[in-house]
Amino acid sequence: MAPLEIIIVGGGIAGLAAAIALRKGHRQITILEQSPISQEIGATISLQPNASKIVEGQWGLSTALQEMGSMVDDAFEVYDLDGIRQMRIPLATKEKYGAERMMYHRADLHQVLRERATSPSFPGRPTNLRVSSRVVSCDCEKGIVRLASGEILTADLVIGADGIKSVIRKSVLGKEIIASPTGLSAYRMMIPVEELEKNPDFARVINPRKSCTTMVVGRDRRLIMGPARSGSIYGVVALVPDENMEESSANTSWTTTGDHGKMLSSFADFPVWAQTPLRLAEKVGLWQLRDLNPLSTWCRGRGILIGDAAHAMLPTQGQGASQAIEDAEALGAFFDQFESGTDSVVEINRDIFECRYDRATTIQAYSRQAAKPATEEGDKKAKMNPAEFMDYNCSYSGALDWKMRHVATMI
Ligand SMILES: Cc1cc2nc3c(=O)[nH]c(=O)nc-3n(C[C@H](O)[C@H](O)[C@H](O)COP(=O)(O)OP(=O)(O)OC[C@H]3O[C@@H](n4cnc5c(N)ncnc54)[C@H](O)[C@@H]3O)c2cc1C
Repeated sequence: MAPLEIIIVGGGIAGLAAAIALRKGHRQITILEQSPISQEIGATISLQPNASKIVEGQWGLSTALQEMGSMVDDAFEVYDLDGIRQMRIPLATKEKYGAERMMYHRADLHQVLRERATSPSFPGRPTNLRVSSRVVSCDCEKGIVRLASGEILTADLVIGADGIKSVIRKSVLGKEIIASPTGLSAYRMMIPVEELEKNPDFARVINPRKSCTTMVVGRDRRLIMGPARSGSIYGVVALVPDENMEESSANTSWTTTGDHGKMLSSFADFPVWAQTPLRLAEKVGLWQLRDLNPLSTWCRGRGILIGDAAHAMLPTQGQGASQAIEDAEALGAFFDQFESGTDSVVEINRDIFECRYDRATTIQAYSRQAAKPATEEGDKKAKMNPAEFMDYNCSYSGALDWKMRHVATMI
């Protein structure tokens, strides 16, 4: 049988992870990325044990990530505005879930994934990463992709890893589905830790080199913070209700540059110590948080959606990228059957969708639930308590194991 030809639309975390998982033998993998260079933003990102197990263990990227300053996230701590710690949940997850919860700089994770997908030093043909290649449409039945340049490419398998504003989603579903605003926006910034340490007000309450995620909770706004790059920088997400952002609904960009002054006035009620990282931020990004309602399907013919294109979710469980990595692992596991000639691409895509849908959709619902009271829409699936959900999220050993334990019993 001829080796599989694969086009992946989108070179974000989902697309690169899919290339790694599928890289095998003579398979020919091309990633089409619209941006000219890596656009990964300056922010921290955490991978939960269910995904760090795949990235650091199965794909062997632990050393490369360590060299970039990856950190184990030891605990989740919550402070009130008086600077009193209200809660500390130890996260030592290795014993229970087989891997740690990890914190990275997003650009570092992206770079390590890109290297693993494209370098000739690993088994299988290196992925061909084509930048400045924006896809405008796809015929999923035939596996035909059209670029903005007019170029037309074909493949056995087309993976839509093109994020929350996916073009491939329209080709799979036959109609446009736009992610809905959730009432929350996030300012994002990174501050050098040595600058924070010069401010005794802040350092008296929080040690920014400590390997943990810290949340400072106000009435309807909060700060979520954590270190990256071996504790040299501190990533801060400042969550505010949308109306404070005064974002025009006509604004088509959901990630923009944030207004520093507006951010400071949004947090004017916070005490001086808690405002310190906001004051010190030199560059502020702004992210309007949107998510998708569960789609009716993720696949059509030779096309399949993964990552945010399939199930964009709120960041409240820190599972968005982790679910994208689970999708990628599932592609690798299920397409192992392809070369044996027993199943077609269309059948394998359907199997992957059936295996992944319930889990990703449940986590999506719970992420929405955890954002309340800012969003009110709930879901039966989300009515577990946080400990139950942690178990659900993190007890994962790959798609085939999941299929055996869950999907097979549903039939
Ligand atoms: C505030 C916030 C905090 C978060 N924190 C975490 C966290 O700690 N842990 C976690 O697991 N997740 C987190 N997430 C979620 C996580 O960032 C996303 O789930 C993840 O980045 C999705 O990856 P993706 O590759 O599917 O999409 P994207 O990262 O959006 O990548 C899509 C790629 O496709 C490209 N593209 C788009 N359209 C086209 C086209 N037409 N042609 C070619 N290329 C195209 C884009 O340029 C981009 O490179 C957070 C999200 C937010 C909003």
